[in-house]
Order: sequence, then C-alpha cells, then structure tokens
Amino acid sequence: MSFRLLTKAWRQRTQSKNHTAFSHILLRSFSHKSERFSRPSFGIAFDIDGVILLGNTPVGGSPAALRKLYDTQGRMKIPYVFLTNGGGIPEAKRASQLSQLLGLSVSPSQVLQGHSPFRQLVDRFEHELVVAVGKGEPASVMSEYGFKNVISIDEYASRFENIDPLAPYKKWTTKLAAPQNPKFDKNGLRIDVFSERVQAAFVVSDPVDWSRDIQVLCDILKTGGLPGRNVGMQPQLYFANDDLEYQTKFPSERLGMGAFRIALESIFNRTHSHSLEYTSFGKPHPSVFKNAATVLQQHVPQVYEDFNDINHKNTQHFQTLYMVGDNPAVDIRGARQTGHPWFSILTRTGVFKGKENHDKFPADLVVDTVEEAVDYILAKESA
Ligand SMILES: [Mg+2]
Repeated sequence: MSFRLLTKAWRQRTQSKNHTAFSHILLRSFSHKSERFSRPSFGIAFDIDGVILLGNTPVGGSPAALRKLYDTQGRMKIPYVFLTNGGGIPEAKRASQLSQLLGLSVSPSQVLQGHSPFRQLVDRFEHELVVAVGKGEPASVMSEYGFKNVISIDEYASRFENIDPLAPYKKWTTKLAAPQNPKFDKNGLRIDVFSERVQAAFVVSDPVDWSRDIQVLCDILKTGGLPGRNVGMQPQLYFANDDLEYQTKFPSERLGMGAFRIALESIFNRTHSHSLEYTSFGKPHPSVFKNAATVLQQHVPQVYEDFNDINHKNTQHFQTLYMVGDNPAVDIRGARQTGHPWFSILTRTGVFKGKENHDKFPADLVVDTVEEAVDYILAKESA
C-alpha cells in the first residue's frame, strides 16, 4: 500500500469516524507484510502519563495498542520503550507495575524515567552526602543507581529540631521508610548531619511537602550544606525534569516539578545574594531522546534473534523513531528539537486537548489515542 493511500485512508477514518475502511486496509496490509517482516527499521517511545495511563488507569486503549507490538507467542517484535519524565520508584519496580496494569511483560530496561540520567553522576557523588527529594522512594532510587551516602529529605529534615516551623500544624505524618543506607542505623545516628556537608540535592520526583522542602533546600543551598550555619558555596542541585504541568485523573493539569523549581528559585533568589544554580534533566532535552534511541537499539538484537536474522545484529540504524506523547512543550518539542529520525505523534488523552495541531509545537501527526497512533505506525511501516 502506498503512503498516499495510507494517508488517504487515515484521513477518511479520522474525518468520518468510520473505522471500518481504514482498519480493513490496515489489517490487510500489515498481515500481508508481517509474514515476511524481518527486522524493524523503526522503534517507538511512549510517554506514560496522559498517553498510556491516567493515574493508575490505562487510557486510550493502551493495553490493546501495546499488544500489537508483540507476536502471537508474546515476544516483542517492535522495539519500544517508555520515556517518561515521571518517577519516584526504581525502574524495576515501575516495570513490574506497568506489567501488571497493562497485562504485558515490561522489562526494567524499557523504562526510562526523568531521574534515569542521575546514574551518570554516581562517579562524582558516590561517597558524598546527597539529599534525595520527592514522592515515592527517592532515596532508594538513588541507592539503586549506586549512590552510597544518600538520605531522603524526610529523614534529613527529621534530624533538625524546629527546622520546619509549620510542622506542628501539619495533620499528616511522614512515615519514614527503613534506612536504605548501610551508614545509618535504625535511629539514623551514624551520619552526623551537623558536621557532614550535603554536596548535592537531587529532586527525584514531585516534592510532597513544598513548604518544608523549599525551606530545607534553601537552608542546604545557602549554607554550603550545613543548615543553620553561615553562608557558604551552593551545593549542586539537580532536577529530574522541568515539567510545569502534567495530567492526572483531575480534569485540569496539575503543577509539576517545573512549578516547584520556579517557586524554589524565586524564593532563593529573593533571600540570597547569588542566583540559584541548577541542572534539569528529562524531556524535552535532546540528550534524553538520543539516549532513548540507544536503548531502543539495544532491544533490536532480541528482535533479530526472534526472526533468525542475527547476521544483521548491531548494524541496525533506525529509519524512524516515533515519540507518542500528550504534552506539546515536552514530548513534541523534544522530538522536534532532536530531529532525524524522530517523528512526533500527539494524543488528545492528556495535557493536549485541542481540535487542530498545537500552535507553538506542532506534531507530525495528531491522533485521539495511543491505539490510533500504533495503528498508524504499523500501517505506515508495512506500507
Ligand atoms: Mg505526559
């Protein structure tokens, strides 16, 4: 089937909402081609929040869409990864959660989270005291990456009496996880937060208690890592992403890590003589997309072996990599900035809800759901 015919069928399908004609052409084309399908020259990166899930609920036909990327024996035939700015739990745990929610077998190497690039900083901070901030299990994420002297901001703040003057008014209680660092005993007494300077703070996932976290981070960052002491050199500060907003089950967008960064930065800069210095990771940085391409590449040999085509191992170059996302400023902008071979597909199940394409960061294709996106990709690739 020619690309023109495919696009025509696609237009008819989206305009008339009559799936029959398109599905017929698509199925005929793909099933015919897939018999002699040997090695895919394409891969797919899916955003999670607003594309695959809303909260913990699958959205846009995502389980069915992803099943199309496996063969009848349940082996992956199309390389794909999840490329999310979210996080807060180790990749292995996220993979098993996704497997359960979607009814598929997702491997940890297919999960690229906002904080995954923090691994690259292990050499620099392996034995230094670092503070991990955010919901979930930020310290255990960092421990798994190899940071040996990491403490969560919950544990850290709990060592300082009166550091949070609002604490008595907070009705919730912060349940401290068991210490994950061998340097801590049950009471956490083996590390002296009053003499050991924090060398870096990592915002791993969305902070929970903004007022305390902004207060304690300002203390750490202004004093060179010893709250309550004199002004000192600012320790390093890293954010897993800079998303202003993201989509959950609530009808309108929620404030994300980028909003927290703006709040922290504004307050720090108003109360300190030097401007805040920090580094943000996550989409839309092209490095994230380049890394995703490398990881997708690593999933190709398995596909080759499945098709007894091992002679082509490691010689694969993707002709097209698809980014399927819901956030124009993050997913689409990132794919566009990175350029070839990325092709961006915008869904309407999350942050973006427009009728036409986005004005500022237009995608290569706009669809309603992730299932439509996968149908389009498979039809185009088998055309
Ligand atoms: Mg999203």
